[in-house]
Amino acid sequence: MDGLSPEDIQPVEHETRDRIITGLVTLIPFLALFLAAYLAWNSWLYWSDLVVFLILYTFSGYGITVGFHRLFTHRSFKTGPKTRRLFAIMGSTAIEGPIISWVADHRKHHAFSDKFGDPHSPHVDHGVGWKGAFRGLVHAHVGWIFLHDQRGSHERYAPDLVADPIVSKVHSQFILWAVGGILSGAVLGFLIGGLSWQAALTGLLWGGIIRLFVLHHVTFSINSLCHFFGKQPYETDDHSRNFAPLAVFSFGEAWHNNHHAFPTSAAHGLKPWQVDPSAALIWGMEKTGLAWDVVRVPPERRVRKEKGREQPQETPPAPAPRRRRRARLTPVRARAGAACGGPACRCPA
Ligand SMILES: [Zn+2]
Ligand SMILES: [Zn+2]
Ligand SMILES: [Zn+2]
Repeated sequence: MDGLSPEDIQPVEHETRDRIITGLVTLIPFLALFLAAYLAWNSWLYWSDLVVFLILYTFSGYGITVGFHRLFTHRSFKTGPKTRRLFAIMGSTAIEGPIISWVADHRKHHAFSDKFGDPHSPHVDHGVGWKGAFRGLVHAHVGWIFLHDQRGSHERYAPDLVADPIVSKVHSQFILWAVGGILSGAVLGFLIGGLSWQAALTGLLWGGIIRLFVLHHVTFSINSLCHFFGKQPYETDDHSRNFAPLAVFSFGEAWHNNHHAFPTSAAHGLKPWQVDPSAALIWGMEKTGLAWDVVRVPPERRVRKEKGREQPQETPPAPAPRRRRRARLTPVRARAGAACGGPACRCPA
């Protein structure tokens, strides 16, 4: 239905095993919060813990936003093989699943945004009223990672990455980088905390586990809150929104309506005041020659998509290269009808 076919969905292999792992990866960091609060209360919190937290949050966070999302999913810029490998590893340390699964799910999210087939929409099939809204938000935030019925097929949604030897190698080494990321909290704590074993332990807690908790819930919030609360300056056929309070913590990913309007744009913050640390890193890489072919949206294209503007009935034929890129990144166009304000809209007014 709505252009969704069985080939779109990644077959389920180890559902129970995956659910147990997902459960542990979500539950343990949550429980660790209480331990961290208890230790901090007993002044077992060192300045080195916060430094380790910031280093690893930035490392794995940029791995997701600049790496998994803007480089690998949307091809917003190009870079060399060493940098590609580095970003694939950095994103893996965020423990949000192996790279090819992450990309396939996210491309499927863009192909079906807020329609049947979207792996994590707060708006599809969750009932009506406040109860439906709450159920939808819980599903989009964390519930969907336990479900495997709408995951993007790797062959269908990420054939470029399946065929990429660098990416598929890092994909198969996922556990290694995931565990390595957690343990590096201890190593950094030991080194920065003055070669103290106690600082190694609290570094493991803050840089390894609490960092994971915060990063997970910021990323999850892009899927839940940014399809529900905030402003919608651009006309898109989904419920994506710009949710300013999350802009800094999400490294610019919270300008999510901008992103759905212009998915390949390297910058998600499109106005000067829309803070976007991920775009800043990409500009820096471009200046130093580490990134090239950075995708920018010309102002006239932005103006054309602004909400309330007369939308052209017939889209003028796009230039060939851009058309090809769009077709590859959104293989299936779902039927329109979920646009915000439409009959299916449950967004708060
Ligand atoms: Zn979205
Ligand atoms: Zn995206
Ligand atoms: Zn809406």
